[in-house]
Amino acid sequence: MGPDRLGGVTELLVDVLELAREQVLERGVGLTESQALACLQLPDDRLPELLQLAHEVRMAWCGPEVEVEGIISLKTGGCPEDCHFCSQSGLFPSPVRAAWLDIPSLVKAAVETRATGATEFCIVAAVRGPDARLMTQVREGVTAIREAVDIQVACSLGMLTQEQVDELAAIGVHRYNHNLETARSHFPNVVTTHTWEERFDTLSMVRAAGMEVCCGGILGMGETLEQRAEFAAQLAALEPDEVPLNFLNPRPGTPFGDLPVMAANDALRAIATFRLALPRTILRFAGGREITLGDLAKDGMLGGINAVIVGNYLTTLGRPATEDLDMLQDLKMPLKGLSSSL
Ligand code: SF4
Repeated sequence: MGPDRLGGVTELLVDVLELAREQVLERGVGLTESQALACLQLPDDRLPELLQLAHEVRMAWCGPEVEVEGIISLKTGGCPEDCHFCSQSGLFPSPVRAAWLDIPSLVKAAVETRATGATEFCIVAAVRGPDARLMTQVREGVTAIREAVDIQVACSLGMLTQEQVDELAAIGVHRYNHNLETARSHFPNVVTTHTWEERFDTLSMVRAAGMEVCCGGILGMGETLEQRAEFAAQLAALEPDEVPLNFLNPRPGTPFGDLPVMAANDALRAIATFRLALPRTILRFAGGREITLGDLAKDGMLGGINAVIVGNYLTTLGRPATEDLDMLQDLKMPLKGLSSSL
């Protein structure tokens, strides 16, 4: 038995929250995989304590501000990939059909997003990776947005070539989203048309080009608690600037359409655990929150989350922007301002 194993055994003798208070809250060192698993296995009666600690960690290492983002789909549906959760795959009989947005509509959405107080605007396309037509649209769209409104532009366009990474960085895209979606060990059960490693390669190029890395995933896709902890540790190793956390919203017609909705307490345990594994990251509430947490969204905001998406999600309706903004006001959490790097 090596020192790591001994370390793990010693840890088990100490309460994980006591240990996390000293390690994460005081020193800013994220949970290890085995520590994350111990948090995910905490009983319901310890959930308030876990959420409280995660909130303290968020306040200590990120502060009270909440980053607000709007997202818009430039190209919807008809994707050739087979991500089993996704109603935008063209391989399943899901109701989302292929459609493109024009540049004036894109700019209008960016202006409206900024008017809510949001500082981030993410352009998303349902593709394996961009083709020449999409890159042209993105180039024109980003230029037009930057001329019309002060907002930071992010993109989520699938897997990229080095040339595409360089071009996005050059036109001023400051953050790139590409989710690893789930633990490496679970990925082949979720996607068969590309690999976890292919996704990782894009993230490495994005980081090297100087763009911020946004990488998260979806919980509740049949992964075990061990795999949930594995995913938290794999994300932590990547040191992403932002982690969007989605909860599976089982869409009719997709292979995961019959999976159960994740229980609210499991979702809250996961939020707090991911915060403890990633003390400094922007941890964003993304899709599936309404169906999983309902009115418990506030508990998530007080359990480690420090970013939200306003308005509509990509394929299912989120909540009206004002509801989220009202919630942040109730919680006395200020909106993050535009960074001076603009
Ligand atoms: S998650 Fe992205 S890559 Fe996968 S099917 Fe949906 S749009 Fe395509």
